[in-house]
Amino acid sequence: MDLKAHIRQVPDFPKPGIQFYDVSTLLAHADAWQVTMGRLANAVRAQQPDVLVGIESRGFLVAAPLALKLGCGFVMVRKRGKLPGPTIRHEYALEYGTDTIEIQKDAITPGQRVVVLDDLLATGGTMAAAINLLRGVGAEVTGAAFIIELAFLNGRSKIDVPVTTLVSYDE
Ligand code: AMP
Repeated sequence: MDLKAHIRQVPDFPKPGIQFYDVSTLLAHADAWQVTMGRLANAVRAQQPDVLVGIESRGFLVAAPLALKLGCGFVMVRKRGKLPGPTIRHEYALEYGTDTIEIQKDAITPGQRVVVLDDLLATGGTMAAAINLLRGVGAEVTGAAFIIELAFLNGRSKIDVPVTTLVSYDE
């Protein structure tokens, strides 16, 4: 199945000049979503994770069902101010704007093997920040996985663990 056929491209969102890759249409299509999860499961299983981490918010849509499928725990990396209790945070640059992510200090048992998921790899800043946070709480990060890669932004160069992506766009 060609997953690209199920990913909607929205020009000039959320601001002029940005081509937004919308996974809503992929999630809404039962067969395409099954295939997406199956392909990610095959790649991520090989990295033998104990825990899958999703990056808010579309990363949750990918990581939570995949964790259930692989029999792993699921942990959230969230935007600033959403998580209760002691947290650590990291500010980073987006393709559009800046953002801050947080994780609960006790979310990971030191030494746990973690694969981090998000819907899309653009500049890599979000994933690099998440990996930084996870190492800060003692995780052994064994991989990063995405549905979509914007290869022309070379986000892979910022990520120092094996990167899995299912579809790639060159412009
Ligand atoms: P980056 O940190 O630049 O790799 O940006 C990745 C994060 O921003 C992911 O959480 C994506 O969901 C979102 N994102 C960045 N660029 C786009 C885009 N062109 N289309 C859809 N989502 C995007």
